[in-house]
Amino acid sequence: MTNHLFSSALTVGAGCAFSLEPPPCPAAEAALRRLTAGNASYLAHEHNTAKLTDLIRLQTAQEGQHPYAVVVCCADSRVPPEHIFQAGIGELFVIRNAGNLVTGSVLASVEYAVCHLHVPLVLILGHRGCGAVASALTHHGEGAPEEAALNEWIARVARGIGRVHSPREAELKNLESALAGLGESPALRKLTAEGKLGVAGGMYELRTGSVTLLREQI
Ligand SMILES: [Zn+2]
Repeated sequence: MTNHLFSSALTVGAGCAFSLEPPPCPAAEAALRRLTAGNASYLAHEHNTAKLTDLIRLQTAQEGQHPYAVVVCCADSRVPPEHIFQAGIGELFVIRNAGNLVTGSVLASVEYAVCHLHVPLVLILGHRGCGAVASALTHHGEGAPEEAALNEWIARVARGIGRVHSPREAELKNLESALAGLGESPALRKLTAEGKLGVAGGMYELRTGSVTLLREQI
């Protein structure tokens, strides 16, 4: 798995919507176009224009879910994926935690969505101004002793970031680590090799609402 293309495109694409190569999987490509359109709509509207009706609730309850993308993103309340991509009920399979890490439980949920719901695209969505990344940079998981779980989590973020010092660089490294984590799954590797799954990394700008995205195959 190479991160070179990923890093350079994120730098080049900063400030615009999406900047990416087309994925090898047509269904993933369609999902990326849908996310692109959704983010453009989000930037143009002050409300979510997606389907949030009684009818769609009833339909999805009776017929099951058929989301078009998995989104792994930070739990930060300023990063609401359904709004950012103007998605309605049953459209996005969202997995969140502080710092958008790909842990074993996250990978299990991704495998479920991809292998059993046949979702063709996985997007890891990092964001600027991430508190988990900032904490990893400054405290390295050495916080108050009674917050053992949080300290362990932040130490994990710090390990993924490695030896970088600026927040912007660290946010990119954190995203790269999460993408690399997807490669731990043989099932995901197989599906991407077969052209049945696309994997993308994106960076959300808190101030503007725009997402800069690059696909990366695992
Ligand atoms: Zn965050």
